[in-house]
Amino acid sequence: MKCHVCGGRMDSIRSDLPFKLDQHKIIVVKDMPVEQCQSCYEFLIQDPVMEYLDCLLDSVDSGIELEVRRFAA
Ligand SMILES: [Zn+2]
Repeated sequence: MKCHVCGGRMDSIRSDLPFKLDQHKIIVVKDMPVEQCQSCYEFLIQDPVMEYLDCLLDSVDSGIELEVRRFAA
C-alpha cells in the first residue's frame, strides 16, 4: 500500500492514538493497528479497525473526560 499524501511506503504498525470525542472528552486507544507512512507519518485506519473503533467509542461512558482503552481485536 502507498501513502496517499506522498506516495511513500505504508507499514502496518501498532500505535497509541488519542481520539477527541468532544471538547472535554478524550479517549486514548492503545495498540491500534494502523498503516503508517515511513516518509511523512501520515497514517490510515483500515475499515474493520474503524468499525471496531466506532463500537469502542460508542461504549464509553458519557461522563468521563479521559479514558484509556486497549485495542482488543
Ligand atoms: Zn506519506
